[in-house]
Amino acid sequence: MLKNIWLPYTQMQTCNNPIVAELTKGCKITLRDGTELIDGIASWWTACHGYNHSYIAEQVQKQLYKMPHIMFGGIIHEPAIKLSAKLASLLPGDLNKVFFTESGSVSVEVAMKMAIQFWLNQNHLKKTKILSFYGGYHGDTMATMAVCDPDEGMHQLFQGILPHQHIIALPKTKQLQQEFIAFLEKYHHEIAAILIEPLVQGAGGMLIHDPELLMFLRKQADHFNILLIFDEIFTGLGRTGSLFACNQANVVPDIITLSKALSGGTMALAATIAREHIFNGFLSDKENHALMHGPTFMANPLACACAIASLELFDQYDWKNNVKNIELQMTAELEVCRKLDIVKDVRVKGAIGVVELHKIKNINLLKNRLLDHKVWIRPFGDIIYLTPSFTITTAELTKLTQAIVHTLFYG
Ligand SMILES: *Cc1c(COP(=O)(O)O)cnc(C)c1O
Repeated sequence: MLKNIWLPYTQMQTCNNPIVAELTKGCKITLRDGTELIDGIASWWTACHGYNHSYIAEQVQKQLYKMPHIMFGGIIHEPAIKLSAKLASLLPGDLNKVFFTESGSVSVEVAMKMAIQFWLNQNHLKKTKILSFYGGYHGDTMATMAVCDPDEGMHQLFQGILPHQHIIALPKTKQLQQEFIAFLEKYHHEIAAILIEPLVQGAGGMLIHDPELLMFLRKQADHFNILLIFDEIFTGLGRTGSLFACNQANVVPDIITLSKALSGGTMALAATIAREHIFNGFLSDKENHALMHGPTFMANPLACACAIASLELFDQYDWKNNVKNIELQMTAELEVCRKLDIVKDVRVKGAIGVVELHKIKNINLLKNRLLDHKVWIRPFGDIIYLTPSFTITTAELTKLTQAIVHTLFYG
């Protein structure tokens, strides 16, 4: 089966029996052999309204027969016009200028490039570095690897190849805030932007911080003349309980990135959205002051149609209440894991539930044990996490939490 396939993050020498998905519906995956799995992670938290939503399918089908794709250079189209207007209306403040891409990593690269070129256009030639944080994850491409957590990420492997960026501790305490300010006093002249996943650092370890931290960052960024980028690829579109994580802190970043759930988990799409003053920094009589980026499949009309449909769905059911209930249920049902010595922490934020172990010794064994319970849960590092669809039923969610509890208690 694996004759011609190369899987991500997988040692292919020992990978010999991958399961084969045949169809999806709601929160269920049906395998080729007929087995039905309850999905605990909604395909890397993309399928926020569940799989195969009929409304998204209808809208994609309509667009498919009209115009599946057209280049975006010098020519635009209705789905992009409509989607960008919708995003601008939903995002706080004047986050109004939408640059489309096709993956999260690329949208972060564009955000970094945008921030650096913003300063270059104003003749600030030294502001070329990005400041990011331990525990962060921003993608797998060369530029984004360099701003991920240096221990969890791939810094070691690509030592000497990744560009050097500043990566420091999240200023969670008074002491760390002092150190953060001291750091900026020393290096602000070479920093273009601070980059952070607001409220929850996702793929770097599912770590939660308070909204006040984001207020602190906004204040320091303004004080030291540095831009603030929120990577909301994980947290955006409802996952933390508000439409965007930045809403909970009442902070408007200068640039925000979205992907993952943007198209409701149907097509590859991402966006980098800037505030007016960032956009204005590219207006000039010099041609090379324009933003120098343009992926071939950017603003793919099919993907835009999915995203418009998915955003419209947020108005059609009480997703906030669903996320609240998912949060309460996961909190109640995962709490018991704390009793185990092997468990380091249990934490829940919105529709994100995490059981962190001191050490996951055999992750493949753990994955198989979870599969035995007919659930699709993919632990990584020392983390077992749930990021279900907002449309999951109480009974389905119980199956997921009980699979984790049972596996941890009885092996
Ligand atoms: C997944 C993710 C990315 C990378 O997105 P890809 O589409 O996999 O390139 C970047 N940042 C965050 C916060 C993510 O969760």
